[in-house]
Amino acid sequence: MNDVAHTDTSGLSHVFSAALARADQWRELNALARAWADQRAASEHGERYRTQCRTLLGRITRLEFCWAYPGTRLLSALDAALDAGDASAFARLVQRISSTLLSGDYRRDDQAWDLAGDGDGTLLDTAPPDVTGSAQRPYFEVLIVTPTDPSTWMRAGEEMRRLRRPDDPFQYATVHVGSFEDAALAAMVNSNIQSVILVDGFQYASRHQIPDLKAYLARHIQIDQSAAGPGALSTRLARGLRNFRPELDLFLLTDRSPELLAGSDDAAPVRRVFHHVEEPMELHLALLDGIKDRYETPYFDNLKKYATRPIGTFHALPIARGKSVFSSNWIRDMGTFYGTNILFAESSATTGGLDSLLEPTGNIKKMMEATARAFGAKRAYLGTNGTSTSNKIVVQAICKPGDIVVVDRNCHKSHHYGFVLGGAQPYYVEAFPLTQYSMYGAVPLRTIKQALLNCKAEGKLDRVKVIDMTNCTFDGHMYNPKRVMEECLAIKPDLVFLWDEAWFGFARFSPFHRRRTAMGAAAALSEKYRSEAYREQYKAWKAKHADVDDKELLETHCLPDPDKVRIRVYQTNSTHKSMSAFRQGSMMLVWDDDFHKVEGPFEEAFFAHTSTSPNLQLIASLDLARRQMELEGYALTIQMTDLALRLRKTINTHPLISKYFKVATPEDMIPAEFRQSGLTDYGPPNASWAETLEAWDEDEFALDPTRLTLVCGSAGFDGTQFKGMLAERFDIQINKTSRNSILVQTNINNTHSDAALLIKALADMSREIEARLSDGGESGQAQFASRVKSLMTDVPDLPNFSRFHDAFRDDAKGTSNEGHMRPAFFMAYDEDNCEFVRLNSDEIDRRLKDGPPMVSANFVIPYPPGFPIMVPGQVISDDTIAYMRKLDVKEIHGYHAAQGIKMLKPDVLANWSASATQ
Ligand SMILES: *Cc1c(COP(=O)(O)O)cnc(C)c1O
Repeated sequence: MNDVAHTDTSGLSHVFSAALARADQWRELNALARAWADQRAASEHGERYRTQCRTLLGRITRLEFCWAYPGTRLLSALDAALDAGDASAFARLVQRISSTLLSGDYRRDDQAWDLAGDGDGTLLDTAPPDVTGSAQRPYFEVLIVTPTDPSTWMRAGEEMRRLRRPDDPFQYATVHVGSFEDAALAAMVNSNIQSVILVDGFQYASRHQIPDLKAYLARHIQIDQSAAGPGALSTRLARGLRNFRPELDLFLLTDRSPELLAGSDDAAPVRRVFHHVEEPMELHLALLDGIKDRYETPYFDNLKKYATRPIGTFHALPIARGKSVFSSNWIRDMGTFYGTNILFAESSATTGGLDSLLEPTGNIKKMMEATARAFGAKRAYLGTNGTSTSNKIVVQAICKPGDIVVVDRNCHKSHHYGFVLGGAQPYYVEAFPLTQYSMYGAVPLRTIKQALLNCKAEGKLDRVKVIDMTNCTFDGHMYNPKRVMEECLAIKPDLVFLWDEAWFGFARFSPFHRRRTAMGAAAALSEKYRSEAYREQYKAWKAKHADVDDKELLETHCLPDPDKVRIRVYQTNSTHKSMSAFRQGSMMLVWDDDFHKVEGPFEEAFFAHTSTSPNLQLIASLDLARRQMELEGYALTIQMTDLALRLRKTINTHPLISKYFKVATPEDMIPAEFRQSGLTDYGPPNASWAETLEAWDEDEFALDPTRLTLVCGSAGFDGTQFKGMLAERFDIQINKTSRNSILVQTNINNTHSDAALLIKALADMSREIEARLSDGGESGQAQFASRVKSLMTDVPDLPNFSRFHDAFRDDAKGTSNEGHMRPAFFMAYDEDNCEFVRLNSDEIDRRLKDGPPMVSANFVIPYPPGFPIMVPGQVISDDTIAYMRKLDVKEIHGYHAAQGIKMLKPDVLANWSASATQ
């Protein structure tokens, strides 16, 4: 493990959180500076503080070139005060910088940038005119990568500031850097940067002494130092930035013939190419225009306008414009509680520019295009009934009755119901079990390939239409969608993939998670299969594996034929689960080379499932969620990841808390065979961030750190009980539990105070357990130990999917397990076809032993864990019964203890089999 973690990494143990550590460091300097100022009289102490200030300032300024504020002028003033030994001037300025950084006033207040008040008026003659209204205008930073002499940068920045006009919708400051390395670093750590201007001719190596950062960078962004030619570095950097932060607007300033360049592949990631000497105002406007494209929320903008227009309504929806509310004697509090805007923004009209979700031609259409762009898809559809409905729409759009879907049995119930509705036949495959936590992981690639090969052996591969998986799972297992799709496409090149990314919408905006998303993988594979290099690779593979048989296909990393392969990827995500949308806001993302075949059915499915009265506020919130992520998703996703990593570390290393609680690590959650890198946990000393990313690139499964399985069984609490305690005593809400754990998620809304609240709660509870154990004597301790054992060791085995009853299978002897679930489901609509058998009756044991087989009439889904342990038409096995008898949850959908298990009667099945020889 040769890497950055073992070099001096002051401030770099989490490279990507360097930006977050920044405010802390300035605060620390502030405290030191104050101490120095107070000590002036006693001079030998003063000297010591001055040295400390200098050291810390040196460390801080190592990275400061990445931000516009405080900038060269203020930093030089700090140096000058240090040199002059002027402790009070130093302290005053540090105090100002630190508090300005914290408040973010530099975004609003021009005064924050100047030296006025510190006895230096130099800025006053060069300060830009104060433009009214600047306080309200969103602020961003522009990174300029340039070969010009650093001594000219300050002036260049001021010249750009002078281009500001009163009616500019946004304002920006500039950050100048002189090299590829510095630029990459600035784009990484400074999330204020929204646009980058690349001026041809800059150098590769940084002029700063940052060996640790360089090492990190070298691993992180693919760099080919041998790249030659005048604009080669610009082109490389543009491509690197596009991969790392696809939302950034890139501009290229060049002497190369802009006309020729603009049409070439080199310019593909670039928004606009300018000739060096062109009008600066043009560039200024282009910068603002880029932000405007992301800032614009076509639907929301129009809805706001609509709400302020005087409109008489004679359509349905009496609450529209609040009329039935504010004039009411009895429900006026509805108006006061929700406020007027929500009522003024209600309408059932699709005129007045409101557009129609079902037949979008105006701002909803624009919004869909913006969504596709933002999320890296070819197309995007908006869901207003949650991902529960989005999944049904996609399943119905891509499958017709009789198609086979290879699907994780542990997926959300909307998929299973989707198969019943659409008549697709599920071929259930199993995720690896995590018996110790009573949960499932994800489905191994080998299992998926085996299912495909089984179908192939039985001559029905052509009927296998879709691979349907959950990425990431509730508990944070992230697939390697690139690898999964690649190998499946080698077996059948036109397979469709549905990735249910209900939890994972945010992942597009995280430079770390993106590699594990459906759309990220679709883009990567698409590019890969188009390349000449891949053709060669494929040819070599093919030569080595001529006449490959199925066994070999299973064992090797197989490659698809570039001439046949189609990229057909669908993603659904619950925008409301990870971004700022109202509940039920959902998206369907499409990257399908053959979408022309699906478009018609997609529209039908969309009509079948979408309300004709979609909620306007919900649509608007999807628009806003997209805007937010395109402008600050980078910062937010990094913050949430950082917070999660801190929580993990704090809990697992806390001397008291870690005696009773533990956050499950990647090693706990993913069996070694799927963790080829050997990564065991996040962060030093286990793995540097660079190593973590390598593991994320290659390993079969990786654990999303933002989803924390907190084991509470070792503290003597079951999941449900612990969840209740957190809610009642500490006002902490979580929603998923298992027998011995709860799931804690960090989100784009979480703060350090939230983390502190959780840590405090765990510490309080640990102390209480300690007290109880020491008061309880031996019997108390024995009781605790036995409770822990029952929760942590005596866990029920998780039942696998048994099989569909022969009546619902085409070929009862085959190895593929798909079945006709739909007829089984509807058979249960007739009471006469069904019987109930009580879970604890002898009859169950008798029939398990001697038959006739018991066949479930419906879905039985216990919460938690929330996956169906029985589906309609499934033969009920010993395992399932044993599991149900051990199950200690109260909520089991599809099962009522008083009635018993609902089954299809054996004679009905016998008759149906006979008649079903269609
Ligand atoms: C929550 C969830 C859904 C359903 O999404 P809603 O937006 O709540 O309807 C589907 N799939 C998975 C994996 C989920 O977690």
